[in-house]
Amino acid sequence: MTLLRAAAATAARRGARSAELDLDRLRADFPALEREHDGRRQVYLDSAASSQTPRAVLDAMSRYYLEQRANVHRGDYALAFEATLAYEAARDRIARFLGAPDRRGVVFTRGTTEALNLVAHAWGRRHLGPGDEVLLTVAEHHSNLVPWQLAARARGATLRFLPLTEEGELDLSALDRLLTRRTRLLAVTGMSNVLGARVPLAALVSAARSVGARVLVDAAQLALHERIDLAGLGADFLALSGHKLLGPTGIGVLAARPERLEEMDPFLAGGEMVDDVTLEGATWNELPYRFEAGTPPIAEAIGLGAALDYLEGIGFAAIRAREAALTRHGLALLDAGRGVRLLGPRDPARRAPVFSFSVVDASGDPIHPHDLATLLGAEGVAVRAGHQCARPLLRELGLSAVTRASCAFYTSLAELDALAAAIDHARTFFSRPRARG
Ligand code: PMP
Repeated sequence: MTLLRAAAATAARRGARSAELDLDRLRADFPALEREHDGRRQVYLDSAASSQTPRAVLDAMSRYYLEQRANVHRGDYALAFEATLAYEAARDRIARFLGAPDRRGVVFTRGTTEALNLVAHAWGRRHLGPGDEVLLTVAEHHSNLVPWQLAARARGATLRFLPLTEEGELDLSALDRLLTRRTRLLAVTGMSNVLGARVPLAALVSAARSVGARVLVDAAQLALHERIDLAGLGADFLALSGHKLLGPTGIGVLAARPERLEEMDPFLAGGEMVDDVTLEGATWNELPYRFEAGTPPIAEAIGLGAALDYLEGIGFAAIRAREAALTRHGLALLDAGRGVRLLGPRDPARRAPVFSFSVVDASGDPIHPHDLATLLGAEGVAVRAGHQCARPLLRELGLSAVTRASCAFYTSLAELDALAAAIDHARTFFSRPRARG
């Protein structure tokens, strides 16, 4: 080896090591990733259900509980001022993160589900009527389907559904037929929790706006994988959950154009959301407080703000690069040679590292996803099995359940290797009785 080649090889090794070191350092921020299972490091591949939480989030929440603990918007004393400032700073932080032009459009909720119900109830029941249509996709999570079924039933409106292509992507060629002057709203997931496919949101939003429809994006999955620019996108509503975005449970966001919120009645009623109350009636508080009845999840909002600081400290460019490596690795491992039928696109550029699949055992017989997940779980590999709260989508695909292994930027390639090894083991394990018989 020439001196030059030797030096280049050393530099490459050092580069590889420092990339590995970076991941080690990053993972050290997430205490739960250190958990062991039967003397081995637990492999966490369920980040689409709930991401892990960095220490910085817990520190911010502890600070509130230990030093700033008071209700918000109520007390006339220093602690209450501090708590209110911290809570409202979290709102500003979220507005910045989402590229939302106006903080009055950032409403704290308990999660995506509550945010979607808020829109279906407060906007849907006001703006939908007989003959109106809401366009959804067949890939919606139950949270962005059932609230619309209820709203449509209450108002005599009709639901339509954008279908999928063979590859598991939205079939945009059906838009012309489905998006009409009757469409009042397009309510679409920004990324399916099952397929992991990237969604052409900009094209969908502009098509919907060209027929005068409003647009709602379910960003529960999207937000951890892609930078969102709400103003640039031009959507009317966007919903997300803190617990899928490195933040705590019990907090979510509805980000909306203020003019949309202005034309809606409140969803929940009680303290804070009113301006004046008489025995006969009430008038509403200004935005966004009109939609935040009762004591809000204060520590959780502060925690979510800290999660976004952490996330932006890493940056979406770095996140995309790591996810691309994870996606390529996952696609290479989860293939037919291993008895795996993977859902969603095969092109790594068109998807995130969220892998839903079915597996056949070494004899070619299907392994039930719950059996597979239980065996993987016993080996310390955490995945999710079931209908993934998307029963219509699975039915469309001719399945009743799948196994899902979902990554975040902190997932290591070695964790995907461990998944593949555990699948190999499961395939022999489940074909054993047949072989013996
Ligand atoms: N939409 C999508 C695409 C999801 O993946 C989820 C959570 N699995 C939700 C909505 C509901 O989120 P939450 O349970 O946090 O309200």
